[in-house]
Formats: sequence, structure tokens, C-alpha cells
Amino acid sequence: MKTATAPIAPAAGRIVRSIEELVGNTPLMEIRLAHLPDSVRLLAKLEMFNPLLNVKDRPALYMMRQAEVCGALPARGGTVIECSSGSTGISLAALSARRGHRCIIVMPDNATEERRQILREFGAEVVLVPHEDGLPAAWRHAEELQRSIPGSWLAHQDENPENLRAHYETTGPEIWEATGGQVDVLVCGVGTGGTLTGVARYLKERRDVHVVAVEPARAAILNGGAPGPHGIPGIGAGYVSEIMDLDLIDEAIAVPDEAAAGTTREVNRATGLLTGISSGAAAYAARLLARRERWAGSTIVTVFPDTGERYLSLSTE
Ligand code: PMP
Repeated sequence: MKTATAPIAPAAGRIVRSIEELVGNTPLMEIRLAHLPDSVRLLAKLEMFNPLLNVKDRPALYMMRQAEVCGALPARGGTVIECSSGSTGISLAALSARRGHRCIIVMPDNATEERRQILREFGAEVVLVPHEDGLPAAWRHAEELQRSIPGSWLAHQDENPENLRAHYETTGPEIWEATGGQVDVLVCGVGTGGTLTGVARYLKERRDVHVVAVEPARAAILNGGAPGPHGIPGIGAGYVSEIMDLDLIDEAIAVPDEAAAGTTREVNRATGLLTGISSGAAAYAARLLARRERWAGSTIVTVFPDTGERYLSLSTE
């Protein structure tokens, strides 16, 4: 199969012509938090610096470029379909708008109103499905839609190898280069598992990095728990996706909803960033690790997937 070439190059210091040139090359920020041992360096990859303010810009661009290269999607005027709780849908909707594609996003009906508004802003059609039915049912709906619209393309982020290739070729190398290879621990939330699988594979090929998956306590399937509704959007899909490589995970930490929300606020106030709830979940797990004797003096890298702007309607204060 033909493969799209790596599309991501640093944009700083030059004039860009499309949002695609703004994807990736995000900063790594040292985070100081209360009760984080002084000897531990906690670095967060700030994915809110992508053009659509989300880590999913990377796989969305890779998946779409690959679909164009292999002929599954025309350069203009095609139909893009995806099932997404928000982030991937938003990235695909933005890329589709530029190319004149019709874009249909199947979403659980508990996704925040901000997300639906952003999708509509890009001209995407939003199909809401009952969240109680679970994500597998939403995927079936998206697959049926794809079959009923001739020539349409379903990105299928949880099966599409371009999802993890984006992270293997961009997020992973960016972390490696920014740290000069000084990474002892990777802490990463798991939705499709694309970020964790791509980054962990890249790093583990280079050194023995301890890889920690982060999941919601109320859907802690990697810890042997049952899937269920929870309050950490973006992670905890309730099933192991096809692209997920479980062998890369050394340990999985389950984070209670309240701990994720509380740590998000703590991170935001400690840094002045406005991060999303899955960033708080990752920071919570990273600090747990950091407090273990084993990791004294180490560098822990985590990924903050998105901005908190899109969750403000969930705030209780
Ligand atoms: N956090 C947020 C806010 C997300 O949107 C996603 C993607 N669903 C993730 C974390 C997890 O990323 P991945 O799908 O690569 O596991």
C-alpha cells in the first residue's frame, strides 16, 4: 500500500499556508505541583498547541492524507464519516471544510454542547446517538452510514493504523528530541490508545521506558474492571481498540473522576494553562508515580491532550 509521507514540519519562524502546517511540534513544559518531589522532573507535552487545540489533529491529518493517497477519499468533494466523542471529529471537520468534503460526525449525546457548536461551525453534520448504548453501538451506526453513502470514507480511528503512526512518527520523536532521550517514565491516557501505542513504541525502541496507562476508575478495563459511564472525556472508551498494543503497558493507573477534575484545576492554577480533564487525570497518575521511591531523580513525561475551554459547561462552580 502507498504511504503518505510524514506531513509534519516545524512551522515556527516561517509563513504557513494551511492549518496542516501548524499540526504537531508542540512544547514540552516542566510542571511543578504541590506534593511533587523536588527531585522528579515532570514534563507535559502540551497538545493544546495544535491548531484545533487537541492531540487528535495529528491522527486526523495522517488518516486523511493516507485516505487521499490510497484513493479512498478524493482530494476535494468527498464524504468523511467518523465516530468521535469530539476531538477527532473536530479535527476532521476542520480539515474537511478546507477541502470541501462533506463531514458527518456520529457522537454520543453526552458530548459537551461546545463540541457540537464547533462541529457545526465547520459545517459538519452531527448525528447524536444515546450514550447509554456505549461506543460500540455508535461505531455500528457510523459503519451503517458509511455503507449507505456511496464513495464515503470512514476514518475509523480505533482501527486505523495511521492513528498510531502519527504518534510514532511525530509525538514520540518530538518527546525524544526535546528531552535528549532523558525519559524514564511515560504516563499517557488511553482513549483509542493511539497516543500511548505510538509514543511508547517509539520510546521503547530506544530505551527502557516505564510505560503507564491512565484510565478512569469507573471504566478501569486495563485493571480488570468493567466498562461504564465516567467523568473523564476522551479516555476510558470501555474496550480495547484494535490498534492498542497492550504489551507496551507496564502498569495501568485508574483515576477517580473527582481526582481528575480536582487535579485539572490544580494544574491550571499552578501553571496558568487551561487544560482539559484528561490532562488532570494524567497529572494525577504522574504525581502518584513521582512519589514512589523508585522514581526519585527521574524524568516523567506525560501528555496533556487538550484545552479546558471545551469542558467549561461541565464545571460545577
Ligand atoms: N484526552 C482527550 C481529551 C482526547 O480527546 C483523547 C482522544 N480520544 C485522549 C485523551 C486519548 O487519546 P488516544 O485516543 O490517542 O488514546
